[in-house]
Amino acid sequence: MTIETIAVMQDEVRALARERDAVILAHNYQVPEVQDIADYVGDSLGLSREAAATDASAIVFCGVHFMAETAKILSPDKTVLIPDLDAGCSLAASITADQLREWKAEHPGAVVVSYVNTTAEVKSESDYCCTSGNAKAVVDAIPEDQEILFLPDLYLGIWLEKVTGRKLNVWMGECHVHAGIRPADIERWQAEAPDAELLVHPECGCASQCMAFGNDNTHILGTESMIRFAKESPKQRFLIATETGILHRLRKDVPGKTFEAVSEDAICKYMKMITLEKLRDSLRDWKFEVTVEPEIAAKARLAIERMVAIG
Ligand code: SF4
Repeated sequence: MTIETIAVMQDEVRALARERDAVILAHNYQVPEVQDIADYVGDSLGLSREAAATDASAIVFCGVHFMAETAKILSPDKTVLIPDLDAGCSLAASITADQLREWKAEHPGAVVVSYVNTTAEVKSESDYCCTSGNAKAVVDAIPEDQEILFLPDLYLGIWLEKVTGRKLNVWMGECHVHAGIRPADIERWQAEAPDAELLVHPECGCASQCMAFGNDNTHILGTESMIRFAKESPKQRFLIATETGILHRLRKDVPGKTFEAVSEDAICKYMKMITLEKLRDSLRDWKFEVTVEPEIAAKARLAIERMVAIG
């Protein structure tokens, strides 16, 4: 699409959203032209908070399916739309509710902490949800002698064990995008750009090695924390180890500094299924509506509300 056709379609999207009383929420990994039209851009926690607080009668969720489900759970009376129903998540798909029930049966009495990248049904079997932004605070809020099952991300779990000093039972799931950022990518950059600050998402395959071998310039941060860190840092150059969609937000919110991807291949095909055109069609044709069974939603809401409440 040319800059002109993008601008015309963005005007169309704005007009439709006004007409339909819809708020557009977009994840940090969305394509730039979708981020630029959204009412709010953020990480899963920020988007959940916006979904819970909005006065609009509908939410168009530009992200992946579990995120739209979370919005529906928090705003059951609102219509929640996702522009492409196939926008899934390999990490959320790594554990089913049946697998979680079996795991819980092996650890009776354990508290279940689920990363927000899970289906509504898995959330309904969990005590707490968390994002990478508040995972440490959630684990810290649980009594020290309490056994914890953490799922589904292996690398986030290893990072949490390190920063909380707690022993966790960690599910062996992974996100194919973050797991694909390897220690060799980090080592190459550390050699080529020793002056740069390295910001690594805790889901990355390299995150646990970074904790062991990283230097003072290495920081393990969720996406919103990356933006805060870059704003506050006196440094000029930053290397980013997460999905490359965040670069657009960083460059926009922190002008005058340099941001480079550690791996240009770190692209989530699911996030990128949402296009400006599909967003326009979603608003125009009122599709695709996301629903969650009321019983599952009621149970999942408790875990999500704990996540939203813990900063
Ligand atoms: S980047 Fe990974 S965790 Fe995020 S939506 Fe894509 S597959 Fe899921």
